Amino acid sequence: MGKTLSIIKPDGVAQGLIGEVIKRLENNGLKIICMKMLTMTKDQAESFYEVHKEKPFFESLTYFMTSGSIVVMVLEGENAIAKYREIMGATNYREAAEGTIRRDFATDIEKNIVHGSDSPKTAAFEIGFFFSSFEVTG
Ligand code: UDP
Ligand code: MG
Repeated sequence: MGKTLSIIKPDGVAQGLIGEVIKRLENNGLKIICMKMLTMTKDQAESFYEVHKEKPFFESLTYFMTSGSIVVMVLEGENAIAKYREIMGATNYREAAEGTIRRDFATDIEKNIVHGSDSPKTAAFEIGFFFSSFEVTG
């Protein structure tokens, strides 16, 4: 069993897609074991996306991520990281496969509805960023 961090980004929440995203996760065998809604501060968004701090999109991305509430979840399942990334689709929605969340709902390369961890190491960092160990019990 693996774990991954999922975020429904401010654009997903604003578009009323919380239920749609959760339905797709559950239909694909990913179990939600932790969940909460919050709004990040700019400092928190900058820490969360630390790996991207040298990228040209860093300032815009971290501003966008503070622009409204987000839904943060820990997902558990077989190959959770890869499976969830498959359900999300490619970062750029124009390149995302048919039937993926980003292909169906993203409006921009930045405003792409969802976040997912990309490796066991980043999943551990990202889960610990939002949840304490006693919350992540499954
Ligand atoms: N992003 C962007 N411009 C880019 C690449 C990425 O605005 O050229 C944003 C987008 O919201 C993406 C996030 O930065 O989801 C993190 O980028 P990453 O490459 O980690 O993509 P992801 O893992 O989310 O698919
Ligand atoms: Mg990433």
